[in-house]
Amino acid sequence: MQTNFKKNQLLDPEINTSEQILRKCVHCGMCNATCPTYQILGDELSGPRGRIYLIKDMLENNKPATEKITKHIDQCLSCYACLTTCPAGVDYLHLIDHGRNHVERTYKRPFFQRTLRNILAIILPNPNLFKLVGFITNIFRPLMFLAPKKIKDMVKFMPKTFPSSKLPNNSVFKPKSKVVSKVALLTGCVQKAISPEINDSSINILTRHGIEVHILKDIRCCGSLTHHMGKEESAHKLIEFNILKWHELYEKENLDAILVNTSGCGTTLKDYGFIFRNHPDSKFRKKARMISKLCKDITEYLDQSIKLNFIETSNKKKYRVAYHSACSMQHGQKVHEQPINLLNKTGNHIYEIPDGHICCGSAGTYNLMQSEIAEELLNRKVNNIKKINPDIIATGNVGCIKQISMGTSIPILHTVELLDWYTGGKKPESIKV
Ligand code: SF4
Ligand code: SF4
Repeated sequence: MQTNFKKNQLLDPEINTSEQILRKCVHCGMCNATCPTYQILGDELSGPRGRIYLIKDMLENNKPATEKITKHIDQCLSCYACLTTCPAGVDYLHLIDHGRNHVERTYKRPFFQRTLRNILAIILPNPNLFKLVGFITNIFRPLMFLAPKKIKDMVKFMPKTFPSSKLPNNSVFKPKSKVVSKVALLTGCVQKAISPEINDSSINILTRHGIEVHILKDIRCCGSLTHHMGKEESAHKLIEFNILKWHELYEKENLDAILVNTSGCGTTLKDYGFIFRNHPDSKFRKKARMISKLCKDITEYLDQSIKLNFIETSNKKKYRVAYHSACSMQHGQKVHEQPINLLNKTGNHIYEIPDGHICCGSAGTYNLMQSEIAEELLNRKVNNIKKINPDIIATGNVGCIKQISMGTSIPILHTVELLDWYTGGKKPESIKV
């Protein structure tokens, strides 16, 4: 694509990067074919190619975002299916990040929308605050019929109960056997509050295989939620803090990896090096790159770095397991085969979901902010799941678990919960038969 940035504009490293991305696009439109919002809305500006043009126009002409542009940028799920499809290797991931930052800097959203986004940006990364809001919501739940539709749509996602972790609140979990490796585990923010069993299973399977697990208590959120809202300043504050903390631990403990069991967060951690590529402190840039290098999805690590000891469970039933490949995992991190390899080793029948490259509509805060599109994507996903008639659905992202569970009563688990069970852990409570 031809670009017309002025020389002085290209002195801005952010513009410079986006210009290089834009120049790779050959307008072929192949990305539209796998874009969920293009499929649903059928409008050029609701697909990646259209969004690329909108971002180019804003940046090239130094224009503020308008209501219309903001709508089309906001409708993007950041599912990155277009990234996988694009034959020219257009780095849409970083272009849309720049687009979102530009929108946030130049467009004043209507009061209600602005307030809602600010509230979500404060509550979601803070598990204790999230739980408090959950308890308050439960008190007012009977009166929700009086609330605006947007609030009702959001409250649907708020759990009625908050289970507790079955493990002690340790900073280090040591294996009973000889330590073969040391890792840090990101325990997440919303995940920790609503599904502590995912971290419990992760810690159990790792320690059972000789891995010492370190949890940094003061790391609350990876910065992903605010980063994808274009809230650069608050995201960067969180990320800078995390980089310094993890790097300190890496040097002290000689960590082999930083494991993430929420693939949306993993995509962002793997991008820390890029996000801080222009940081004035070269030592900090190096640390950011190191954290990205150390980051691995837990299934990526379990598949590649250790030999899991699968055992026969007392349960003789062979389940039909539908594997839902979270977008952030398959498109954002290109981790797809590894969890399927591992699940196959459990001896169950593993099936990929038809049209599995299409998002379920979860996408961070997307199902809260763009509920109609998210609902349509959920319906499509559930219909595709039904085609393979599974007993269980497995996936690697808590957001997808929550979203898909809104559309089906089929038990849905994190991949690591199944792996933990089939390597000597407890049967997950949600599997009744
Ligand atoms: S597929 Fe790639 S090159 Fe083609 S229009 Fe989309 S982004 Fe541009
Ligand atoms: S990230 Fe997903 S929703 Fe956004 S343009 Fe690409 S394919 Fe479409």
